[in-house]
Amino acid sequence: MSAQYDDKCLFCGITKGVIPGFKVYETDHSLAFLDINPVSDGHTLVIPKSHAKTLGDLSDDYLRDIGPVIKKVALMTGAEQYNILQNNGKLAFQQHVDHVHFHVVPKTSETDGLIISLENNWPQKQVSKEDLAAILEKMKSRV
Ligand code: 5GP
Ligand code: ZN
Repeated sequence: MSAQYDDKCLFCGITKGVIPGFKVYETDHSLAFLDINPVSDGHTLVIPKSHAKTLGDLSDDYLRDIGPVIKKVALMTGAEQYNILQNNGKLAFQQHVDHVHFHVVPKTSETDGLIISLENNWPQKQVSKEDLAAILEKMKSRV
C-alpha cells in the first residue's frame, strides 16, 4: 500500500507538509486538519495520506484506517451533534478539492454548521416494490 501523490493537489501538499495546515490528528495513513474556512468551530477535514479523487478510487487499506479517525475527530470537537459530509464530484454538493476528504462539521446551533436550506434538496420519490427490486438487481450485477 504505497502512497500516491499528485504534485498539483492542495491536500497532497498539506499531507507532505509543503503547504501548512492546522493538524488535528494523524495516523500513518490518515490526516485530520482544520478547514481553513470553517462553517462551525472545529470543522475538520479528514483525508487519506494518498491521492485519490473519489471514494471509489481509494484503496480499501486507506479506507479502513480513516473510519476510526473520523470518529476520533468527531469526539475531539466536543460537539454532541455533528454531520459527516463527503462529496464525490462537482454535481454531488460540489467537490472543490479533488482529493478524498471527509468533513467533520459540529452542529451547535440552528445557524452554524451544515445548513441544508435549498428547496427540494432531498427529492424523495414514491417507488414501487418492483422498481426497487429492479434497482437492486442492477446494483448486484455491478459487484
Ligand atoms: P469540498 O467543497 O471539496 O467538499 O471541500 C473543500 C474544503 O476545503 C472547503 O471546506 C474549503 O474551505 C477547504 N479548503 C480549501 N482550501 C484549503 C486550504 O488551503 N487549507 C485548508 N485547511 N482547507 C482548505
Ligand atoms: Zn491529493
